[in-house]
Amino acid sequence: MASTQQASELPDTPTLPNTHSGIPTRLLDKARRAKTLIWQGRSVPASQIPRTEPALPQGVSRTTFNTAIVELTQQLGAANVELNDKPAVDNGWYMEHPNTHDMMHVTDEDALVASAAVYPSSTAEVQLIVRWANQYRIPIFPISMGRNLGYGGAAPRVRGSVVVDLGKRMSNILNIDPDDYTCLLEPGVSFYALYEAIKAKGYDHMWVDTPDLGGGSVIGNTLDRGVGYTPYGDHWATHAGLEVVLPTGEIIRTGMGALPGSNTWQAFPYGFGPVQDGLFSQSNFGIVTKMGMTLMPNPGGHESFMYAFERDSDLAPLIEIIRPLRICNVLENVAQVRSAVQTIAVQGRPRTDFFTGSGAIPQEVIDKEVSKLPCGKCAWLYYGMSYGPAYIRQYKLDAIDKEFRKIPGARKVDPQTIPRDNYFWSRDQIAAGVPDLEELLWCNWVPNGSHIAFSPVSPIRGKDAKQLMELARRRHTEHKIDLFPAFCVGLREMHLIVEIVFDKTKPEARKAAMDCMRGMVDDAAKLGYGEYRTHLALMDQVAGTYNWNDNALMKLNERLKDALDPQGILAPGKSGIWPKRYRARGWEMGVGDEGVEGKGVEPEAGSVRL
Ligand code: ADP
Repeated sequence: MASTQQASELPDTPTLPNTHSGIPTRLLDKARRAKTLIWQGRSVPASQIPRTEPALPQGVSRTTFNTAIVELTQQLGAANVELNDKPAVDNGWYMEHPNTHDMMHVTDEDALVASAAVYPSSTAEVQLIVRWANQYRIPIFPISMGRNLGYGGAAPRVRGSVVVDLGKRMSNILNIDPDDYTCLLEPGVSFYALYEAIKAKGYDHMWVDTPDLGGGSVIGNTLDRGVGYTPYGDHWATHAGLEVVLPTGEIIRTGMGALPGSNTWQAFPYGFGPVQDGLFSQSNFGIVTKMGMTLMPNPGGHESFMYAFERDSDLAPLIEIIRPLRICNVLENVAQVRSAVQTIAVQGRPRTDFFTGSGAIPQEVIDKEVSKLPCGKCAWLYYGMSYGPAYIRQYKLDAIDKEFRKIPGARKVDPQTIPRDNYFWSRDQIAAGVPDLEELLWCNWVPNGSHIAFSPVSPIRGKDAKQLMELARRRHTEHKIDLFPAFCVGLREMHLIVEIVFDKTKPEARKAAMDCMRGMVDDAAKLGYGEYRTHLALMDQVAGTYNWNDNALMKLNERLKDALDPQGILAPGKSGIWPKRYRARGWEMGVGDEGVEGKGVEPEAGSVRL
C-alpha cells in the first residue's frame, strides 16, 4: 500500500490522563499495533477535501455566521471555538478521531460535516451555546466523544452544524460511591477513564461494564443505547439520573435529582411523576451534561469459555438452546455468537492475504483459514463468561455444556490451548469489565477500511436467526460484500449485528454498502424486525419503519420537538425527527436518494434571544 507516512514512524497514541480521549498506558502496545496495521492498509493517506471556508448550514448567511462566531468566541475564548476551515489533513483512526465529520464516511466525505466545533467547560456554558444557537438559528450537534463509529462518528446530520464537543473540557468523574456502587459522570469520561479511576482508587469490589472498545464515553454510548458484555450490559437500563440542558436553555435533572439536596439521585432512577429520561436517548430533545451510572459488584471470580459449532445450520438449534439458558441467567452476560469469517478478520489481516479473487470470499477459503485458528474448523463461535466463585461457576458451566453438546459436533475449546494474543482473551477482558482495544481490527479487511452496522432486533428464536441470516446473505451476495454477522443475545431479544466493511475512498464501495444496508432495513421491516440503532444516513429510513397507526410515534416525536425546540436548533434530523422549519423540504434520506441536504429551511421570522 502507498502511504506517505511510514507505519514505523507513527507518533504514539495520546494517553490518559494527558487527554480525556486517550488510551490507558496498559494498552499502548495494542494501540501501536492497531495504528500500524491501519496505516499499512491505507492507499490514500490524507483527506481529499481542500477546505478553506466552513460549510454553512442552510438558512444562515456567511455574514450572520461570522458575526455569531465572533460573539461566541468572545464568550467562550478563542481556544474554545474552532472553525472547520482547514483542509482535513488526515482522517485519523479510532483513538485519534476527528470531531467535525465521520472518519468512516459512507456518504461523500464532505457531505456530513460541521462548520465549527465548540468546547464548553460547564453546564452554564452549554446553556450559553444553546441560547446563542437560538439567537442565530444555527443548528448544533452534541457529541460526548464522537467515536460512534458505524453509526456516524462525530458527524452532524445537518451539514454545517456546529458540533458541541462536550467531552474535551467536561470530562470529570464527579463521584464514585464505593458503598452504593454508583458514579456520576460528565460527558467526556470514557470507559477507559472510568475503569482506570476505579482501579486507581483501589475499588476492586466494583466493575464497569464496557462495550467492545473502551474509547467511547459512558454518556454517549448509553444515550445511543449501546451494550456491553457483563451482566450489566444494557447501559440504558443501568443508568441512574440525568442532568439535561433543554434546547431553549433551561436545565433539568431527572429522577431523584429533581429534589433539591436529594441523596438518592444515583440510587433510584425514577423519582416522582413521569419518567422523562427516555426523552433524551437517541433523540434531539436535550444535551446531557451529567449522568449517573450503576456499577457491578465484582462477582468474586469469572471464567471465559468458547464453543465451536461446525455447520452453518447449527445456528438455529443453538439459538433455541440459548434462549432458556439466557432468560434463566445461566448464560449471564450479553453473549456473542460470531461467524467464522469475523474470527478470521479480527486478526487484523487484509482479505487479500486469504483471497484475491472478486466477489464475496468463498466458503472453502473460510473453512481452510479458520481451521488454522485455535477454534478449529467451524461456522459459528460462542463467546461466553461464567461469573462467581468456582463452585458456582461449575454448576452453570456444566448445565451449559450439557445443553450445547446437544448439537452434534459441538466442541468446547480449552482456553489453555489458546495463545494469549488470540481474540478470545480480548473477549475475556471485556466480559470481565476491562475495556480493551481489539475489536475494530477487522476493518483492515479492505484498504482504508470503514464499517457501517445493520442492527436488527429479533426474538431469541432459531427461525428468526435463520430468517435474518437469509435476508442478510441475499443482500450481501447481490452487492458482492463479505458477510460479517454476530448475534448479541440479551435477556429476551437478540440483536444481529452485521458489519459491512468497505473502502471509504471508493464511491462504488460506499454505494454498495448503502444499497445493501437500505435493502436489509426494508427486507427486515417487512418481516417485523426493526433496528435498535442506526447510522445517521439511515435514520430517516429506519424511523419510517416504526410507522404503526399512521406514524403515530413520529407524530408524537414531532409534537415534542416543536414544543421543546421551537427554533429547531438541536441536532435536526437525528433519529428521523425533523424540526418544523425543516419539514416537507426534502431533508429525508432514503432509498434512491442519498442527498444529505434538503431545499432550505423555513425563512427566518426574526431571531429570538432566550
Ligand atoms: P461516544 O461517546 O460513544 O463516542 P458520541 O459522542 O459519538 O458517542 O455520541 C453518540 C450519540 O449520542 C450521538 O448521536 C450524539 O449526538 C449523542 N450524544 C452524545 N453525547 C450526548 C450528550 N451529552 N447529550 C445529548 N446527546 C449526546
